[in-house]
Amino acid sequence: MITNAASTTGEKPTLAYYYKDGLYLNITNRCPTACSFCIKRSWQWRYRGWNLKLNGEPPVAAILSAAMKAAAAKPIKELVFCGYGEPTYRLDVIRAVGADMAREFPGLRRRLNTVGLGNAIWKRSIVPDLKDRIEAVSISLNAASPEEWRRIQRPAPAYRNCFQDVVSFVRECVAAGLETRVTTVAGIGPNPEAVRALAQSMGAEYFLRPSLQEDN
Ligand code: SF4
Repeated sequence: MITNAASTTGEKPTLAYYYKDGLYLNITNRCPTACSFCIKRSWQWRYRGWNLKLNGEPPVAAILSAAMKAAAAKPIKELVFCGYGEPTYRLDVIRAVGADMAREFPGLRRRLNTVGLGNAIWKRSIVPDLKDRIEAVSISLNAASPEEWRRIQRPAPAYRNCFQDVVSFVRECVAAGLETRVTTVAGIGPNPEAVRALAQSMGAEYFLRPSLQEDN
């Protein structure tokens, strides 16, 4: 059984939290993968003091209200659709909150952090839904082959054969003019240089990011 210290104390979930100069939105806890590097369970669904364990899917209005208040309270450079979960399940949130936040805070950079399975989840391309709501997308790929990807990302059975869908998503994001960054977590994949080469062959940037434990 997973222990969730925050929920047992009745602490309210956090919908918007600060990290460095960004405001991060915790918009879902659903995941199509059980990524081998995920820290949500070992960190008991907390992130640097914030409780990210949601009680179901938060309504758009609640997320928008939390984002507006947090962005007004402190200067931020970037809004990040994130979670402890895969944010593309919540296209409704990305579209509504992305639009309203851009209107209220002109110049705010909006980024999506994703495992890149949005097209597979929705069974259609979601890039048209994203391209006028975000400026940047960061795709956690971690692997350069389907076998490596399955081992590292540990997809649910429905997504077991979706490595190429993630690759296509990267290509589509580049073609749509989004700042597209492919990442691997340091120390996880056996061949980060192959991931770099794959990313760059598609016109995406590449970033070998420190694991969250080490990223202070
Ligand atoms: S998608 Fe994110 S929250 Fe879900 S298992 Fe992977 S790293 Fe963890």
